Amino acid sequence: MKLREIYSTDKTVISFEVFPPKSEPEKLLKETAILANHNPAFISLTYGAGGNENKSFNLLKNIKDAGINVMPHFTCITSTKENIEKDIKKLSQLGVENILALRGDIPQDKSLMKHDFHYANELVSFIKEKTNLSSGVAGYPEGHIESPDLKTDIDNLKRKVDAGADAIFTQLFFENEFFFDYVNRVRDAGITIPVIAGIMPVISRKQVHKMTSMANISVPKKLKEALEKYQDNALLDFGIEFASEQCRGLIKENVKGLHFYTLNKSYSTDKILNNIKE
Ligand code: FAD
Repeated sequence: MKLREIYSTDKTVISFEVFPPKSEPEKLLKETAILANHNPAFISLTYGAGGNENKSFNLLKNIKDAGINVMPHFTCITSTKENIEKDIKKLSQLGVENILALRGDIPQDKSLMKHDFHYANELVSFIKEKTNLSSGVAGYPEGHIESPDLKTDIDNLKRKVDAGADAIFTQLFFENEFFFDYVNRVRDAGITIPVIAGIMPVISRKQVHKMTSMANISVPKKLKEALEKYQDNALLDFGIEFASEQCRGLIKENVKGLHFYTLNKSYSTDKILNNIKE
């Protein structure tokens, strides 16, 4: 099922993000089997710059064989047009229907850049021209880190939508107000496609520091205090409660979809989904 149809329901659509593990893919498949109990519309599989392509394709096939739809992420900044065409056609042949079309981060080693594609909107156009795949794109409720301001970033988001994107998946955020304000601004810019909320359960201090050092993501006082006060299981429990509260608030405002950044662990996401069912 393509993104437009997936998000045409009145119910909040659930989906999960996983990444290709360095080893033991069978462990990840066990986690996805637990997550599958929540009837996700799909699981998205991240794309690591310089990652092992064959490993990702195999994992994608394994998840699909378990009866779960997969939306692979795909970045373009370090690939040639020729390779991208080959890969997106291969994905189509595997029965993939949706793809998350991304530029990718500018690599530290600039020589890795191929300069065939400069921004994600060019990739969305190319995917549309060459395949039947439906494209999702990334959105940043607090602005992309390279963007001078949120308005410029949303103008650039519009380029991806005008190129044919069917849904926007947001960067994670810890304060719903950022998401609500973003959706209002996106709608004011004339963008009508679904905006899907990215939720990351807090698992550890290290994980929060890593994410917030790489992107514009505000940490509210309540979370800052909890990161000081709790660790291990106590922090895990806090993270589950915190994200459950976030999800309840989003559902109350009729969010179209919740996309969980699972970090390849089902434990917290499973508990959050059970909490919000109650
Ligand atoms: P773009 O939409 O191209 O935007 C990049 C920057 O350029 C922005 O500042 C934008 O405002 C500006 N811009 C865009 N278009 C133009 C234009 N035409 N002219 C001038 N400026 C423009 N990274 C990975 O490596 N692998 C993944 O699997 C992955 N998954 C992700 C999933 C989600 C949901 C999100 C939110 C991010 C993900 N990322 C992933 C990170 C992403 O690759 C980076 O944030 C990257 O820096 C930007 O990618 P983009 O597709 O948003 O780029």
